[in-house]
Amino acid sequence: MRRIFIITISLVFFTAAMLMAQQKKEAPSELDKKVDALIAKMTLEEKVGQMTEVTSDVVSKSNTDSHQLDSDKLKEAIMKYHVGSILNVTGHAYDRKHWYEVISQIQAAADKDRLKIPVIYGIDAIHGVTYTLGSTLFPQEIAMAATFNKDIAHQAGEITAYETRASYIPWNYSPVLDLGKSPLWPRIYETFGEDPYLVKTMGASIIKGYQGNDVGDKYHVAACMKHYLGYSYPLSGKDRTPAWIPDRYMREYFLPPFAEAVKAGAKTLMINSGEINGVPIHASKYMLTDVLRGELHFDGVAVTDWRDIQYLHDRHHIAATQKEAVMIAVNAGVDMSMVPYDYTFFTYLIELVNEGKVPMSRINEAVHRILKVKYELGLFERPVGNPDDYPKFGSDEFRSVSLQAATEAITLLKNNNNVLPLKKNIKVLVTGPTANTLRSLDGGWSYNWQGDLADQLAVGKNTILKAIQQKIGKENVTYQAGASFDQLQNIDDAVSAAKNADAIVLCLGELSYTENVGNIDDLSIPAAQTQLALELAKTGKPIILILAEGRPRIVTEAESHSAATLMTYFSGNEGGDALANILFGDANPSGKLSITYPRFTNSLNNYYRKNLENGNPDDKHGYNPLYEFGFGLSYTTFNYSNLHISKPDLKSGETLTVTVDVKNTGQLEGKESVLLYTSQLYASISPDTKRLRAYNKVDLKPGETKTVTFKITPEDLAFVNDISKTVAEAGDFKLMIGDQTADFKYISNETPSRTGKL
Ligand code: BGC
Repeated sequence: MRRIFIITISLVFFTAAMLMAQQKKEAPSELDKKVDALIAKMTLEEKVGQMTEVTSDVVSKSNTDSHQLDSDKLKEAIMKYHVGSILNVTGHAYDRKHWYEVISQIQAAADKDRLKIPVIYGIDAIHGVTYTLGSTLFPQEIAMAATFNKDIAHQAGEITAYETRASYIPWNYSPVLDLGKSPLWPRIYETFGEDPYLVKTMGASIIKGYQGNDVGDKYHVAACMKHYLGYSYPLSGKDRTPAWIPDRYMREYFLPPFAEAVKAGAKTLMINSGEINGVPIHASKYMLTDVLRGELHFDGVAVTDWRDIQYLHDRHHIAATQKEAVMIAVNAGVDMSMVPYDYTFFTYLIELVNEGKVPMSRINEAVHRILKVKYELGLFERPVGNPDDYPKFGSDEFRSVSLQAATEAITLLKNNNNVLPLKKNIKVLVTGPTANTLRSLDGGWSYNWQGDLADQLAVGKNTILKAIQQKIGKENVTYQAGASFDQLQNIDDAVSAAKNADAIVLCLGELSYTENVGNIDDLSIPAAQTQLALELAKTGKPIILILAEGRPRIVTEAESHSAATLMTYFSGNEGGDALANILFGDANPSGKLSITYPRFTNSLNNYYRKNLENGNPDDKHGYNPLYEFGFGLSYTTFNYSNLHISKPDLKSGETLTVTVDVKNTGQLEGKESVLLYTSQLYASISPDTKRLRAYNKVDLKPGETKTVTFKITPEDLAFVNDISKTVAEAGDFKLMIGDQTADFKYISNETPSRTGKL
């Protein structure tokens, strides 16, 4: 009885909210009318089918892993369940010809259904089109962010879209817009790092690259921003475990990248699998309707993540039955369910509509969004695509963009006595567990889900070892593994080889992983790797430490023995070549850390900490990272001068123009990312010590000076206050670029809220 009452009440509220939302809507476009005309012809089964997404396993022969579609299962999916979408499985990569056959068969089956609605196939092309052999694989997002180069993120997006369409697939589950706040979380490398502004700007750039000016042309795909919202910050650090994130922090740090992505026109969104403050996001009408639609005005498709409606029952225990889970999720605002293995969603949702527990208006709204994106993608006219339209697939032109991205990402953290670049006529020992595997360059989502087939399938791509051998000749390079990821391996051979070498390139870090497989109990690099470093250090030969890893593992002890340190992140298929170019002076590094590199396992602060986290003078337990966010060296030197702000007082509606001169004072051409931070000295809630507000990357010849200009508005200074309102509060500010600082005031009539509310 109580449940019926609650359901009735929520339906009343729900319908009222829907009406209000509809009233606010703009007049329907021609496309909206076309979509509505199609919806008018659809049965309930056909509509619910559109909302159903199954994995390709469901329509494949079960005794093979090579994507052999089963025509009977495919027929059942389309003719009986009218499925609107199929997604890629974990399987592995296939060539374009195979993809052509698979997608053609699926669309031919869809064409036999009564209304001939094409299927939308979705894939995780998160750093290039992962599952197509011969594709261009880019650095993962954490590395892309370290370039601080929005243009290259945009180009990577365009190329990925081109190659995804060249694989006949129109929907990409990318970008990840989660905030990479905690290195414990195994998917941190899939993010654009820890800073909300960097995530927001890089995310918008890549989305524009994916979608272009016309998402329906044959070279662009629909982006899917994910995982809305707060997925990246589980309390334990482990994937898909509960998070505690107050609304204020959600809005201050996690929401802005999604809000920007909506403005950039992202067509679709994937929902966070986790629960926050006890509420699974898949069940949160507040998040999925009030905030997403009401505040952000997102009008695209919201798809669940993997099996997440079923998990409302199995994992979160907020639904007593699977059927109730479907009701809760669809009423909260889910448009499409990544079911992914069965048709229970379809069956339950039809029952729920017939029982009046899910309103037909909710179904029509979801189906409208799904059909609209299918029209926008041109799927009705061109469900498959033409194999001859993609001559640049896997081309050298595309490869060179990935190489440039990797080169601009790799971050030089230490270079004692300018030990780098190395001379090409020296003898080098290459050692360590990440030296000779593409898994430590590509990371997860490369050829298969966990990236463990990269060495087999990234044909012709160079590991770090191979790239160094090509660069200086095999005869000058000795290789000894020294250790696997977590075990010593013939360490004595590595040490004696070191004695005969002029320099040691020691490659530590991680193998590929993603999601729960990447959960760890200890952020420290495994002991075997540290021991290898310590034994090699005893030889007295200079150690060039390479950190090929998806997240900053604690390496403090090993790193204290290095003469130079380079962070390569997961830098993609060209990462080995990019690194060899940098090591031997054919390229000048320009990456800056997109994430704070912690010194200790129990001190994982972000750079935008609170003042009290700095500790006081007699307390050494404050913020003390090994390397700070935004840090990165070059083989040349840059000098900052003449920081100038257009006025000392900024008022509402005004813009502050900031200029600074950056000079290349060294001997080599180099690129410098110029980062502008501000600090508010006092505010109604404790302000962050500093926040990145703008950045720009410049290329400077030796001796050259460029004036870099930034525009800062009060909106850039705003924060979310204690009653969840975004406000720019009057007060004193400090602005910082490099070693230059300037003070200014923001003058506003608004009185700060000091409610003391938690
Ligand atoms: C991941 C998503 C991914 C989806 C489809 C999920 O397990 O969390 O990021 O897009 O699988 O492969």
